[in-house]
Amino acid sequence: MMDVLELGISELKEAYWKGDLDPREVTRLYLERIQEVDEEIGAYITVDHQGALQEAEEAARRIREGEGSPLTGIPLAIKDNICTKGLRTTCASRILYNFIPPYDATVIERLKEQGAVILGKTNMDEFAMGSSTENSGFKITRNPWDMRRTPGGSSGGSAAAVAARECVAALGSDTGGSIRQPAAFCGVVGLKPTYGRVSRYGLVAFASSLDQIGPLARNVRDCALLLQAISGHDPRDSTSAPVELEDFLGCLEGEVEGLRIGVPKEYFVEGMDRDVEARIWEAAGSLEQLGLKVEEISLPHTEYAVATYYIICTSEASSNLARYDGVKYGLREGSGDLMEMYLETRSKGFGPEVKRRIMLGTFALSAGYYDAYYRKASQVRTLIKKDFEEAFRHCDLILTPTSPTPAFRLGEKIDDPLQMYLSDIFTIPANLAGLPAISLPCGFSKEGLPIGMQLIGKAFDEATILKVAYAYQTITDFHRRAPSLDPKGTQG
Ligand code: GLN
Repeated sequence: MMDVLELGISELKEAYWKGDLDPREVTRLYLERIQEVDEEIGAYITVDHQGALQEAEEAARRIREGEGSPLTGIPLAIKDNICTKGLRTTCASRILYNFIPPYDATVIERLKEQGAVILGKTNMDEFAMGSSTENSGFKITRNPWDMRRTPGGSSGGSAAAVAARECVAALGSDTGGSIRQPAAFCGVVGLKPTYGRVSRYGLVAFASSLDQIGPLARNVRDCALLLQAISGHDPRDSTSAPVELEDFLGCLEGEVEGLRIGVPKEYFVEGMDRDVEARIWEAAGSLEQLGLKVEEISLPHTEYAVATYYIICTSEASSNLARYDGVKYGLREGSGDLMEMYLETRSKGFGPEVKRRIMLGTFALSAGYYDAYYRKASQVRTLIKKDFEEAFRHCDLILTPTSPTPAFRLGEKIDDPLQMYLSDIFTIPANLAGLPAISLPCGFSKEGLPIGMQLIGKAFDEATILKVAYAYQTITDFHRRAPSLDPKGTQG
């Protein structure tokens, strides 16, 4: 019998259109799967049974009447910081535990226009601040490859759901690596688009100059399909770029021979995990086999990226999160005067990491410190961007590890914020420079944990990233491996 949960978007679409499968039946299988494994994995905050079945019903009608699009009837999961009309959107924060958005984010509108089925909302670090999903105000999420480890973060729920076959694909958001790092930890594909490629309207803001929504999927083709569906100019987001929509699916089979891949020497740091390093060089070898030229490059300001990022993102966060005051939406605490209400609401509603960032950001922006911190960080950000501009005069793509280690253990870094911040070292630069980057599975560690490689491209050149990533997947099968889940939890 065909294993329906193993089918990607294109295969499902074909089965629907031929009449071999029905979206209602597939949606029910996914809901059953969630029922069966999610108590252990913890990928979802909210599962929308009823909504999903209704959307599946509508998708079945569309397909019957020949009105289907590529995503019609495809069961997806959505990170819980993307607004869904009528469906609770919490950002994994107690301060928004009861927030039901009155509108859809632009990306959700677009998915619904195509007839996608939304299974539910996934767990994350509170307000997307973290690298392990342990900062969720509600619960932890486990890595389907090893229940004792984190799925990464902050889009850990989305990555775990894709890996554990609790959805076909998912949306996440990436401010400093939050799509790519969990994709790497969970052995799936994750793409952060160029800043401005995908509308941020309806994405709850963390650091507005860095945030981007993007897909997490089983393979590069599915990733391209989802990107196609969600990208494009949106007048409701003033930072959305007025660029022509490209055919990301059509570009997949393009010629890759002769393309130049740069490997930055600064990304192979002392103390890096040996398996990660070995897998990246093997991946470089596979790319050479495909006719690409691999050469060493330099991104000299890399060592400043983490410090720069944590000043810029906390500054923006301190301003963006000022709106949670208990007045308009979410939690309200305190029975005294207005000031007491603000204090109580914010003290009880935000978790420790969010508070830490609000304090750091408020400090970095304060009179007397602004020049030393925020302004300086903005200047260094420009230098980091220039490093990439210089590098891209010599190469078409940049290959790096996605993360210095495979998935770490639950609890391992949660009491040491600096260690947690340092784990973002390879993903942050692309956000600071606004560049598109993908993480794709490139092998396993000795313990059998997935390892991800990152390909960074020129601004708005997702096409080249996808084409090379797709070619890589035609000669490797790491992306086809799935964790052998034991829902009874005897693994851990
Ligand atoms: N781990 C990084 C942080 O905590 C990135 C998070 C993200 O991309 N949303 O800021």
